[in-house]
Amino acid sequence: MTTRRDFIKISTAGTGAAALGLSVLNWNGVGKAFAEVENIPASNTELTPYPTYCEVCFWKCAGWAYVDTNGKIRKIIGNEDDPHSNGRLCPRGTGGIGMYYDEDRLKTPLIRGKKPDGTSYFREASWEEALDLVAEKMDKLRKEHGPECLALFSHGTGGKMISHLVKAYGSPNITAPSFAQCRGPREVAFTATYGEDVMSPERTDIRDTKCLVLIGSHIGENMHNNQIQEMSQAIDNGSTIITVDPRLSTAASHSKYWLPIKPATDIALLLAWIHVIIYEELYDKDYVEKYTFGFEELKEHVKNSTPEWAYGITTIEPHIIRRTAHEMAAAAPRTLIHPGRHVTWYGDDTQRSRAIAILNAILGTWDRRGGFYNPEKVHLPSYPTPPYPKPKRSWKDAYPPGKYNLVNEVLSTGICDATIPNPDLSCHLRGWIVYGTNLMASLPEQQKTLEAIANLDFLVVIDTMPMDIVGYADIVLPECTYLERYDYLRTSPHREPALALRMPASEPKYETKPNWWIAKELGKRLGLEDYFPWENIEEVLDWQLKKIGSSLEEMQRIGVKKFKRKYDDLYPLDNLPDYEFNTNTGKIELYSTELDAEGFDPMPKYTHHPEPEEGYYRLNYGRAPMHTFSRTSNNHNLWDLMNENSVWINPKVAELWEIKNGQYIWLKNQDGIISSFSVKARVTERIRWDSVYLVHGFGHTNKKLTRAYGRGASDSELVTKITMDPIMGGTGMRGNFVTFLKEDPRKEVKA
Ligand code: SF4
Repeated sequence: MTTRRDFIKISTAGTGAAALGLSVLNWNGVGKAFAEVENIPASNTELTPYPTYCEVCFWKCAGWAYVDTNGKIRKIIGNEDDPHSNGRLCPRGTGGIGMYYDEDRLKTPLIRGKKPDGTSYFREASWEEALDLVAEKMDKLRKEHGPECLALFSHGTGGKMISHLVKAYGSPNITAPSFAQCRGPREVAFTATYGEDVMSPERTDIRDTKCLVLIGSHIGENMHNNQIQEMSQAIDNGSTIITVDPRLSTAASHSKYWLPIKPATDIALLLAWIHVIIYEELYDKDYVEKYTFGFEELKEHVKNSTPEWAYGITTIEPHIIRRTAHEMAAAAPRTLIHPGRHVTWYGDDTQRSRAIAILNAILGTWDRRGGFYNPEKVHLPSYPTPPYPKPKRSWKDAYPPGKYNLVNEVLSTGICDATIPNPDLSCHLRGWIVYGTNLMASLPEQQKTLEAIANLDFLVVIDTMPMDIVGYADIVLPECTYLERYDYLRTSPHREPALALRMPASEPKYETKPNWWIAKELGKRLGLEDYFPWENIEEVLDWQLKKIGSSLEEMQRIGVKKFKRKYDDLYPLDNLPDYEFNTNTGKIELYSTELDAEGFDPMPKYTHHPEPEEGYYRLNYGRAPMHTFSRTSNNHNLWDLMNENSVWINPKVAELWEIKNGQYIWLKNQDGIISSFSVKARVTERIRWDSVYLVHGFGHTNKKLTRAYGRGASDSELVTKITMDPIMGGTGMRGNFVTFLKEDPRKEVKA
């Protein structure tokens, strides 16, 4: 029987934790674990560059870290040869050096202890003791319940090495929030349509497009480096930009058309655009005839989806819907309806992404210049190790047979479901390793995450910073930052295949260690030495590089190495050759046989979503150019640029509530959850009256993040309701509504 864990709460005001009656963490006695502010000496003109690629976001731009003669890292700049950055880093990448110098970093392994009065605390431990304890717990779990009862949550490049350990251990339960909480719906939708997905970085040919359509996509605020550069180039070239967003985003402010759509109605707009393009015969007839399946069914399906019908739903006037459809058709095939990235909104997100894929298909944009290009990557051989053991069970056993058949990644929320005991389940997870992801901010429904954690036998957190999740750990393993370690080579696909090297610019500070060392040491203790037959990661990288005619020594000199494309097919369908797609019909499926076979709508339909009650407003959230998720909010360089978020409120609404610009207020959601901290009101015409907007990643409740603590409001804690996408298990998070409080009612309770 599972014993409910007594777990540690790191924060002072977390709502879900309080509701579960968790004890408060005592950080006394870990003073040495958090060092004094680094005294950085004056600048030195003799700087040595070390190649790296940025870890501040998943774009992984390659650059150079410059180190002075005292061994201090002074600056990071882009690598000219890198297609991800073209030699320029975004503000976050340049400020990434702040992660290295952050005085709040985790500095030694920590083990949770308990005082006689039952309160929990962290004590410092040696690596030997901490690793022995993790291995002991993993071994016990493996013997008593099977290795499949372990799960890994991972984010970032370093997670690959921990994944290798977990696969060697025998568990298939390796997940990242980037699927079910972010891009999963578009991957499933594009695969159902084209037989392949959009990839990361997206294969969008923004550089050569003549008409770019952004639907809720925050390019410009979401600093996907070369996408932004290409968008500027497209604007300079006179391309038409059409932005659909309830908010006048940065992209919208640079657009020819801003369509301030009523939230949750995007599918109606997409169907109306498809209607206009088909019924006015503006589609690419040759492309559609040659490559697509189900055109007549689609034509019938959108027969009544007129702009007039869509107007009543979206509030976008019919003549604007027609005019924008004409713009797309006039530019086609050099038109790009961008698939977006964070697309888990309302629970029918795979179908919305399908509508985007279909609109692209009838305009003939896939695999064509100015639409979607065909990327290539460098294939590196894997260092020889034994095959992984074959798991007998997986997280999917937490669901009825056949559920999520179209999902080819592990759902993070599925891991939570499989961790909460249920007598009907054949798979019950009991141990988690969390690598580099703050689950308190990256997963919705904090209450459920906490319930799952409460049922764990053990939780190990590997991180560089004391993020909120660290407070719930039994054992904390401090990793060094990306500037202090080697990682696997970056092989991401692009127009030109390229490799990028990350090597240490400095020795790891404090008692921190790189992920590869942690994985190897745990492997040794678990009897998995054969999976780590190398001395260090340099040996692996050099072996891989020599197999493709390079070497570690060469990469240390150049940082990025470009390779010639194997095939001359950047835009394979430009001249309409014969081509077979990897779908059931071998065609681009406007009518999806795969979705049909699984019992889902083969073509997207508009469904009405719940609306806010009177006095409540839809909570939208997004990005800022100077921060990534919640992981950068304590970085002093970026904190200087933006140290809190604000809540955007339409002036009419602000007037109604007598809220002034700059006034601090609290937000309360439909389930009565109140933001832990107050947030500044930004009264602006740039948002519709029915919505409010927050930048994600603020409102940290962990006092050990000395700069980020208590700054702004956390959208994550207000997202207590999700709408699950039935096709792929994505968590639609934009069905939450908030109202305003001018006082914090909890103050009265305390008094
Ligand atoms: Fe770093 Fe910015 Fe590139 Fe992301 S886009 S990897 S933060 S430089």
